[in-house]
Amino acid sequence: MRLLKVLQSDLNKLFLFELEDGFTVEAVFYRGDTLCVSTQVGCPIRCDFCASGENGLIRSLSAEEIYNQYALLIGRLPIKRIAVAGIGEPLANWRNVKEAFFRFKEEQLKVSFYTTGFPTKHLEELLQLPHSGVTISIHSLKEDVRKQIMPHAGDLKELIETLKNTLPKLSKKKRNKVSLAYLLMKGVNDSEEELKELSRLAKELGVNLTLLYYNQVNEKYKPVSPEEYERAFLLLRSAGVRTTLSTRFRRDKLGGCGTLVVNRNKELIGKS
Ligand code: SF4
Repeated sequence: MRLLKVLQSDLNKLFLFELEDGFTVEAVFYRGDTLCVSTQVGCPIRCDFCASGENGLIRSLSAEEIYNQYALLIGRLPIKRIAVAGIGEPLANWRNVKEAFFRFKEEQLKVSFYTTGFPTKHLEELLQLPHSGVTISIHSLKEDVRKQIMPHAGDLKELIETLKNTLPKLSKKKRNKVSLAYLLMKGVNDSEEELKELSRLAKELGVNLTLLYYNQVNEKYKPVSPEEYERAFLLLRSAGVRTTLSTRFRRDKLGGCGTLVVNRNKELIGKS
């Protein structure tokens, strides 16, 4: 595995790694201290709004390949935090992700996760690890809409049941590090009624919300306007749920959420 290329925007640094079999995956350095790493080549969840899952899963990364995205950058960047939030679904490669997690912890790094919660059999174990945050992508509380936008994310009811069973067993401090992510997309999941239902669920579970701004990667879905985004935030906050917004790093076209790709095409690499 080797570092093939570095692409840079005003906010993010994107690292392209070539694996032994020729595939490439990406990691992103953002916020001045955080490295977002990939866990798979492609993604089995195939979210309809995400560039990373467009062609499904090619293969999972080994623990070594996950860890090496960090190891190959030691000395170049002041990395203090790992976000397991790049290409792939961490729970769908659980054994290797867990092994890499403990290697990161040996390096005194803080490690947070982004997951769809599927397969749910590993979610309970993830929530109990000494992590620095787990964000679970909900994106819709309507089974049919969630099936359309996250076709292989598993059953929503099963996910909510797992959260209802697991979260009460966690300390309040640990529960405070759990968040439900909701990616607002115009006309898809942005009605007031849906947002109210989301706030009710977050309250019932005792977790926070992360309201994500959509980085448009195809013509199928559109982001809401900045005013609508703010209105949604105020609605959730006024319902009494601690809600955070996408940072400008996560909204960046290079390396922002949903923008990482497998085997980035050579033209773009040439232009950097
Ligand atoms: S949003 Fe996450 S889970 Fe969905 S396809 Fe992209 S990488 Fe996979």
